[in-house]
Amino acid sequence: MKINKFCLRFCCSFFVLLQGISTSYAQGGDQILDGIGETGLIARYLFNGDTRDWSRNNLHGRPGTQVKFAEDPRFGKVLSLSGDTSSYISLPSEALTDLESLSITAWVNLRSAKSGQHFFDFGQSANKHFFVAPAGINNQEGFQTALVTDVTGKKVVSAPAIELNRWVHVTIVIDIPSKTLLTYIDGKLAGESKEIPKELSDVFGQQNADKKLFIGKSLTAGNPYLDAMIRDFRIYRVPLNMTQLTSVFNNSRRGINQGGVNTRRVEEDLPKFAPTEPQLYNSYLVSVADVKVTTETGNLPRLPSYINGTYKDGFKGPKVRVVWPADTDNSAVLKPGTYTITGRVAGTNFQPKAIVTVKNSNKQTQPIAKLKPFELKQVVLQNDQQGNKSKFIENRDKFIYTLAKTDPNSFLYMFRHAFGQKQPEGAKALGVWDSRDTKLRGHATGHYLTAIAQAYAGTGYDKTLQANFAQKMEYMVNTLYDLSQLSGKPKQPGGPFVTDPTKVPMGPGKKEYDSDLSDTAIRNDYWNWGKGFISAYPPDQFIMLEKGAKYGGQKNQVWAPYYTLHKILAGLTDIYEVSGNKKALEIASNMGDWVYARLSQVPTDTLIKMWNTYIAGEFGGMNESMARLYLITKQPNHLKTAQLFDNIRVFFGDTQHSHGLAKNVDLFRGLHANQHIPQVVGSVETYLATNNPEYYQIADNFWYKMVNDYMYSIGGVAGARNPANAECFIAQPGTLYENGFASGGQNETCATYNMLKLTGNLFMFDQKPEYMDYYERSLYNHILASVAENTPANTYHVPLKPGSIKQFGNPNMTGFTCCNGTAIESSTKLQNSIYFHSINNQSLYVNLFVPSTLNWTERNISIEQITSFPKEDQTSLKIKGNGKFALNVRVPGWATKGFYVKINGKEHKVAPVPGSYLKIERNWKDGDLVELKMPFQFHLDPVMDQQNIASLFYGPILLAAQETEARKEWRKITLDANDISKSIKGDPTQLQFTIDDVVFKPFYETYGRHSVYLDVRLQ
Ligand SMILES: [Zn+2]
Repeated sequence: MKINKFCLRFCCSFFVLLQGISTSYAQGGDQILDGIGETGLIARYLFNGDTRDWSRNNLHGRPGTQVKFAEDPRFGKVLSLSGDTSSYISLPSEALTDLESLSITAWVNLRSAKSGQHFFDFGQSANKHFFVAPAGINNQEGFQTALVTDVTGKKVVSAPAIELNRWVHVTIVIDIPSKTLLTYIDGKLAGESKEIPKELSDVFGQQNADKKLFIGKSLTAGNPYLDAMIRDFRIYRVPLNMTQLTSVFNNSRRGINQGGVNTRRVEEDLPKFAPTEPQLYNSYLVSVADVKVTTETGNLPRLPSYINGTYKDGFKGPKVRVVWPADTDNSAVLKPGTYTITGRVAGTNFQPKAIVTVKNSNKQTQPIAKLKPFELKQVVLQNDQQGNKSKFIENRDKFIYTLAKTDPNSFLYMFRHAFGQKQPEGAKALGVWDSRDTKLRGHATGHYLTAIAQAYAGTGYDKTLQANFAQKMEYMVNTLYDLSQLSGKPKQPGGPFVTDPTKVPMGPGKKEYDSDLSDTAIRNDYWNWGKGFISAYPPDQFIMLEKGAKYGGQKNQVWAPYYTLHKILAGLTDIYEVSGNKKALEIASNMGDWVYARLSQVPTDTLIKMWNTYIAGEFGGMNESMARLYLITKQPNHLKTAQLFDNIRVFFGDTQHSHGLAKNVDLFRGLHANQHIPQVVGSVETYLATNNPEYYQIADNFWYKMVNDYMYSIGGVAGARNPANAECFIAQPGTLYENGFASGGQNETCATYNMLKLTGNLFMFDQKPEYMDYYERSLYNHILASVAENTPANTYHVPLKPGSIKQFGNPNMTGFTCCNGTAIESSTKLQNSIYFHSINNQSLYVNLFVPSTLNWTERNISIEQITSFPKEDQTSLKIKGNGKFALNVRVPGWATKGFYVKINGKEHKVAPVPGSYLKIERNWKDGDLVELKMPFQFHLDPVMDQQNIASLFYGPILLAAQETEARKEWRKITLDANDISKSIKGDPTQLQFTIDDVVFKPFYETYGRHSVYLDVRLQ
């Protein structure tokens, strides 16, 4: 199995329940995170009898032939290295890719004082490596930690010698932003050096470079082997801070399963600002207006985030950002009346008030979907006006050509393995989250089905490519169909079988259901699995979840069975929709029946418990897939299944539907972002299937809160520091600076993929320009920005701390994390929201300014959009064909310098408002030309609760400062208060600018270190 790249981070959930207003706690689970978001851990070797990686990255160690385990009175079974030449462990090279910093923690019990022993030695060669010599080396005594590169030479931290024959806890931290190498013994700082290489690549080479990682052995010949006992050796990709390493130390003293999910407040090293320090435009404020808001009984009011302010001396400032408190129930609005909410403005003492009038509720309206997206085949991306490939085409092609080269057998490998079938010759399994031992295997296959369906639909411009994808779809579906047909039917005529999904017995010879997928333990008795079952693992994980199984790596634990299933069902349905493949629909429909048979037997209380179980209960958009299936099959059970996945607490508060998102109450703060966004996407689909307006309200309220209270400037919404998990929403709405900017990363790319889906779906019902402003922001500044320069490798998190760098994984599509999965979907449907049409085909919406051709076949009209946008600030639409329709063009919210329209060269006299749609209705004639000009301007997008920390935009494009090294502090810039453009030089046609001497480029063209947020002063 070849693994090109391990993304060392994790997708699925960190389900944190909320209690009260500001404290949140996690549900119990069998995991030890010690206050480090799960994304921070690369590998963990307990060494309690084997050399397996206890994390789910499957970076298992390989023992030398003489490796033994000993019984220790304190810790039980531990690794015992004898000092012999075959007594060492080697770890996979992939354990040191995708690093921002590096921390190692372990317990060691040293038995020999021999100088030159290596506790571990990681690197490329004797000239480029990182090692610890616990008993000194080369005449240097004491505990030596060293970083050696051919550039900087050897940098050593010396600490006092450790005692022999005693367990000592060792922590080594290489903190790149702080440029520090630290050694801690038993949780106390024992040595420190400030002179370290600027980048870890100086030590370990570039990402995919081959490295040797030894425990107990030196990379340099001639050194003695280690004579010691070791347990609980961990590798982290983040620099552990004092709080974190103390809890690693303290928790690991107690035993392996007692650590809790950390949700306590983590004070981190984000620069702090005095409350009196001027915060951008707020320092010119003299007053802020109050606002009046109306709501209906039961529903919390929707408060405006930006209100009018008055600035001193006639200064023209923007609307003022107000942060409002947000209740966690609806007790304030149960009866008609009036009440007041007091907000705050960052860095000021202003306390604007919202006077809320609560009126009796009217009957809820049922919004109707008025628009439809075009099919992928109807819109083709084109080169820009100069004949150059647009960024959209570049990214599309990286994915399409690599996808075309993939072998479907890799994506079928674990399905065949589960069903005990032979692999075709040469078939290679995928790695990362689809490798054999991984309980999420099959998830990439689901994304793959969607990606090849979209690629098929979108490659009408190249028949060879299209045929390639058609063939892949056919082959995938046929194989999955044949496997699913095996389930619940006798292997041989007359043999035993179980049709009823609720009667699946335990595996042959087993005394319990288990999730062991290894060759020797996996059950293959598909005849017992019930009719219609399909998955890359046997049914046990689904059954165990109902019985209360928790997330974890043991065989009595699960990962997230319904998360994986959602991907597979979505992929099959996508194939059905683009190609009409009935077998694909049948597999999905039968599996839907299987799920219904089981879940309809599960009591509601148990379902609530399941969907709130840490990670195990993450179900992606099962509600979406099942509602969508219902809209196709019209089988009532499919809709009922969708609703069995209602997240009752977050959606409705409780089973009585007291409040929750349906009534604009935010109970999702502090929860895992990407666990919940797909559920809300599913809520829209459930609305389509039920017409119950509650489901629409859930999505509508959620979207508003996301964009106003949780969003970073690139459009991402996850990245909490509090709770301490980079994949969670912040613990309090509107506090990104106080509680966000996790050091483990921010902006899981899947979350933005799902936000775009939600946004597009809501726009079908309500043509609010804000939706497409958000869409454009996230598409250009996150999705386009998440792909490597020359390959389809892509990001998991997109870190936004000063001097961060993007990490790209999965260049050859051989090992997928969740974000590698959604990336193959995102980049095969880049054209899908440029245009929409009304269901009655009387109007057309032009949302995005991307060179492309639209074939509006329903009207026999085509539109060619010719532009080099965003390298120019205009676009033109050339109409081919004749007919009357309303052309609705988006006037972006950022287009504050005007929006000019010419039709056939003649000025169209209008005064469009930024953030609106301009409707031009006429009898269009073949050859009509509409020219749109929307001058860009520089503007700042500040963090809501720390306004001087802001991103710089030019039109829709986020400009990132190009950094040469990691930083601790935000980059400071000073801009002209009256006109920030006066402080910026550069070339708009290249979108390259400078402020002082720092280069700014579009974030989507930034591959090195960057600062997306700046510390901005005005003068
Ligand atoms: Zn992801």
